[in-house]
Amino acid sequence: MSELSQLFDTVNIGLVILDRDLKVKYWNRWMEYHSGIAAERIIGASLFAHFPSLNTRKFLRNCKSVLTFGNFSFFSQKLHHYLFPFRSDSSFESRFEFMQQSCALGPLRDESNTITALYLTVQDVTELASYEHRLLEMNMRDGLTGVYNRRFLEKRLAEEFDRHVRYARNFSVIMFDIDFFKKVNDTHGHQCGDFILKGVSGKIAAMIRKTDFLARYGGEEFCCLLPETDIAAATVLAERFRQTIAGMVHCYQKTEIIVTISLGVSGLSGQFPSSDVLLKRADDALYAAKGSGRNRVVALS
Ligand code: GH3
Ligand code: MG
Ligand code: MG
Repeated sequence: MSELSQLFDTVNIGLVILDRDLKVKYWNRWMEYHSGIAAERIIGASLFAHFPSLNTRKFLRNCKSVLTFGNFSFFSQKLHHYLFPFRSDSSFESRFEFMQQSCALGPLRDESNTITALYLTVQDVTELASYEHRLLEMNMRDGLTGVYNRRFLEKRLAEEFDRHVRYARNFSVIMFDIDFFKKVNDTHGHQCGDFILKGVSGKIAAMIRKTDFLARYGGEEFCCLLPETDIAAATVLAERFRQTIAGMVHCYQKTEIIVTISLGVSGLSGQFPSSDVLLKRADDALYAAKGSGRNRVVALS
């Protein structure tokens, strides 16, 4: 075994050499470990005999471009997630079933500068990709309730509003606020208030569709974006929210507490100049619901 080959077996990266027929010439220890295929079993065989999923037009085109023109090619984890379907290492908590990989492909030349083979490097970036995903999630969620935060809501609202303008899609908003919440805090303590905030938001989050968005707008006020929903349907949903929350008993340290919510509904019907106006209408409607006695729904189109 050459010195270089010994060294290549110690690195924490997959190293593969393919000949011009895409048969495996070299397969380092890292590749053996993660694929479960020993070098002596794969060397001399077509890569596709062991990895049929790599036999795509795109991969073949990339290999050809390396072998013909000496180009370099990269597989980004962000675009493709992985090249080799290796199971994700379970030594840390990962959201990915398969190892996330960044790969590179390039030419190898002989003494006369003729391209005789290509190399493939495989880097495991699962941990990095998991952290990045978690960071992005944290950045768009409210720490206490786990629903989306206001920053994310404003971004989604602008995007949905654009869609509405471009494709004339229905779009509605429900704003709601817990009634007399200050009294809950004053009577049962702030911790109990937090518990109820989680209970109420969790219940509503379970009632909406996957395509809807629930966000904490501030304190004990929440906003629900309902794409593809007209104001009539949104009002029916808001009434279901109201009834569900009013019928919910929150048990906190052996005390049973019931809270109600007031809701404001608004929907886009064409004449709204901006998404802010839509939100403002929902807020006005909520204010009207509070003013007319609370524990009710008011819709303003
Ligand atoms: P209304 O029916 O008019 O909405 O009355 P309210 O008492 O609910 O409204 P107000 O705005 O006077 O009080 C809101 C309270 O919500 C005051 C604030 O301390 C409480 N609050 C805001 N954020 C949190 C939180 O994260 N946890 C807890 N426990 N309370 C919060
Ligand atoms: Mg309130
Ligand atoms: Mg409030």
